[in-house]
Amino acid sequence: ILSLKHLQKSFGEHQVLRDISLDIKKGEIATIIGPSGGGKSTTLRCINLLEEPTSGEITFHGENVLASSYNRNIYRAKVGMVFQQFDLFENKNVLANCMVGQELVLKRAKEEARQIALQNLEKVGMAQYINARPSQLSGGQQQRVAIARAISMDPEILLFDEPTSALDPEMVGEVLSVMQNLANTGLTMIIVTHEMAFARDISDQIFFISDGIIAEQGKPDQLFNHPQNEKTTKFLSNFQ
Ligand code: ATP
Ligand code: MG
Repeated sequence: ILSLKHLQKSFGEHQVLRDISLDIKKGEIATIIGPSGGGKSTTLRCINLLEEPTSGEITFHGENVLASSYNRNIYRAKVGMVFQQFDLFENKNVLANCMVGQELVLKRAKEEARQIALQNLEKVGMAQYINARPSQLSGGQQQRVAIARAISMDPEILLFDEPTSALDPEMVGEVLSVMQNLANTGLTMIIVTHEMAFARDISDQIFFISDGIIAEQGKPDQLFNHPQNEKTTKFLSNFQ
């Protein structure tokens, strides 16, 4: 469904992504792990075009996303993202947060947007909080609303950038379990995380990104139990 070929990204003189190539199939769960500053967030931000790659290719359903003729608005609607800092609209309640994108971007009628938002808030266990403002919720609850908002846009791929790393430890589990449920519905997901046990359980493929390249990739068992690259071994030893 999505493929990156020799993606590079520089900020001025600083080459952050040197050579990132990966293929994601429909329904697959891919996890990106690696040391701080290695380029994980930049990779996700290039995928959904929050950053413009310096060179390389991104194809979605075989089409070149970076071509000037490609409709980026439609693409961005199909590739959703959930951030570390939830970033809900503070001036809107939970329900409105989950409706606004549907109305503005997908041009859904209010009532339809409302029904879809309610269904998705139900899925993440937040249906009883529809009138609350984000600041009245715990971090875990805000992140679950952010996930409901993202899936209300019917994405074909959902990107997660460290969705639990801003949370108090006791709230991590509720967010991971919502993500596990989503994975079970067949949604394609690319997840940057430091939750190694979760990555091992949920992933079809794991990519270890360090210094702007994919230093190693493989199935969870291979990468965690039989790493081939000493950088992977060293990184994983921090989590023992
Ligand atoms: P972390 O685990 O800390 O989130 P990461 O793997 O997500 O790290 P990135 O955020 O992708 O790393 O950053 C990679 C490098 O790119 C860092 O050195 C960072 O300072 C640099 N960088 C990221 N965004 C920008 C930007 N907008 N302008 C300049 N440099 C940037
Ligand atoms: Mg990051």
